[in-house]
Amino acid sequence: MTTATPDLGPQTSDPPRGRVDILGLTSDEVRAAAALLLPVGHGIADRLYPLAFREGRLAVDAFPVSASTSAVWNREFTVGLLEVVKMVEEDTASGITAKAVLRLHDGYEVECVRIPMHRNEDGTMEFTLCLSSQVGCKMGCTFCETGRMGLIRHLTAAEIISQVVTTRAKFGWEPKNLVFMGMGEALDNADNVLQALKVLADKRGLHYSHERLTVCTSGHADGIARLAALGWKRLNLSISLNGADDTTRSAVMPVNRKTPLAELQKILAAYPQRRNFTLGVNWCLLPGINDRREDAAHVAAFCAPLGRVLVNVIPYNPGTLPLTRAPTEDEVVQFIGWLRDEGLPVRRRITKGRTIMAACGQLGNPEVRKRRS
Ligand code: SF4
Repeated sequence: MTTATPDLGPQTSDPPRGRVDILGLTSDEVRAAAALLLPVGHGIADRLYPLAFREGRLAVDAFPVSASTSAVWNREFTVGLLEVVKMVEEDTASGITAKAVLRLHDGYEVECVRIPMHRNEDGTMEFTLCLSSQVGCKMGCTFCETGRMGLIRHLTAAEIISQVVTTRAKFGWEPKNLVFMGMGEALDNADNVLQALKVLADKRGLHYSHERLTVCTSGHADGIARLAALGWKRLNLSISLNGADDTTRSAVMPVNRKTPLAELQKILAAYPQRRNFTLGVNWCLLPGINDRREDAAHVAAFCAPLGRVLVNVIPYNPGTLPLTRAPTEDEVVQFIGWLRDEGLPVRRRITKGRTIMAACGQLGNPEVRKRRS
């Protein structure tokens, strides 16, 4: 069942007017900036910072500060909520998947998706929020709606974080896990994504533990090196593989022409791992393209030197210009069986959000494409 949210209340889109958006900064960075402006700036920063993330506003009025101090804060800082264009939901047996379309200050839109994951013993549902890191994407994966847009621009760290804060303020979403699997190749925007990771983990703000965060990449070699240099051993990494011989992978993922499988395998094998690190290997099952018996054998050969892996099989979700059809249930079960025969641990991703164009590979805004063409 698909529903649209009827009344979203007052909308906020706060374009940058030379003000610093707190959502893009760690608490230490806000403290340092505030201390330059006001003698007691760092003390006020300590109190305002958590509220900016919890309430999605610059809550200067929550504290007894002088009018001049308040004026300085309001002049210099902002909390940039995004404008909610729409929110749509798909209600299925596995829970409610919801997609929020959010407008940036320059009019472009990004999408984030709240995915139901797990029901707790007390009946509450745990959710994962799938975040966008770019408007469009230059990687050109042929099965992906976003890839057809081309890269329009990177999101700032504040815009990435604002997806979490805006959906919390507007809809009360409190995701347990965050994954960079929305619009864009996260590591193509490494400066902002790495900064966003630091802000997400800041213990005075949203305070996500590293194991609650996952970066997914199509195989961006430089970006993986930068992520490794961050030295966060509990951070999750997953790779979109989708082809385990160079011919197949290059056909569906042009990044493979730049970094072929042998090189990608070397980079991933060298990725610093904690003892129980498990590399996520995502396989979008494309009938007639990567669903043969030998494809399963190639996946196993690729994964062999990578330590512990978990292969996520994701049935293809046809978008507006389908590359192929969706696989049948029998085809999915058969391919998973072949992977297991190869000794690989496999998880089948239940398709969520397909009817609201919120499933894997379906995010993107055809209007933007039209405007650009
Ligand atoms: S799958 Fe990811 S990396 Fe590939 S085009 Fe789509 S958004 Fe970009």
